[in-house]
Amino acid sequence: MDPIYEGKAKKLYTTDDPEVLRMEYKDDATAFNAQKKAQFENKGKLNKAITLLMYQMLEEKGVPTHLVADLDEVNLLVKKVEILQVEVIVRNLAAGSFSKRMGVEVGAEFEIPIVEFSYKSDALGDPLINDDYAREMKLATPEECAFLKKQALVINEVMINFFLECGMKLVDFKIEFGKGSDGKIVLADEVSPDTCRLWDATTGEKMDKDRFREDLGGVMAGYEEVLARVSKALG
Ligand code: UDP
Repeated sequence: MDPIYEGKAKKLYTTDDPEVLRMEYKDDATAFNAQKKAQFENKGKLNKAITLLMYQMLEEKGVPTHLVADLDEVNLLVKKVEILQVEVIVRNLAAGSFSKRMGVEVGAEFEIPIVEFSYKSDALGDPLINDDYAREMKLATPEECAFLKKQALVINEVMINFFLECGMKLVDFKIEFGKGSDGKIVLADEVSPDTCRLWDATTGEKMDKDRFREDLGGVMAGYEEVLARVSKALG
């Protein structure tokens, strides 16, 4: 069966239920807007397992997600939603494109978390936008933008505390939201070391996709350690 959608890290398939899709996590890794590519054995499996646990943890804290059920090693069943073409980034410490754009040293702590929107467009390299751009381009209404920001900050609070329990600092992350047929907006896509910067709380060691971006080696060892800690914290 052909996927109805194939992205850089996941594929989407229909199921017997028109309201439910199968999301397959691939072993492909990309960085710098897909200029750098590689494959890592078990990446799909690890990211699926981490996303599942994070979604379950977030749901328990009252954050709705598109998760329907766990299916197998690399597949989740998810509610069919229309993905808003706005990527929401939350930053607690300076890193990545923020440090580059603003000339701020990596690791500098923000007084208050920063929320950023970007336009989900590979062709344009996911440019930074604001709610006026989102309104004009019909990506999201002003009310939806306000909701995305509020919800992203709630998710940030829950995840900061959870990852700290796991001995990790949540530096920043990117999330996506989807709108269901009922019009409700829920957390969608993935929450994994591909989309979150996570540093060991004691040593500061990077445990996320930066290991791939920066050729630090031990990329999957980092992801495995994240999964082990998240699993342990959820008992
Ligand atoms: N991120 C992501 N997908 C993107 C862009 C960013 O998952 O298309 C994540 C990235 O892993 C990091 C956070 O969002 O955890 C902030 O990324 P940043 O804007 O600093 O960009 P990058 O350094 O990845 O170019």
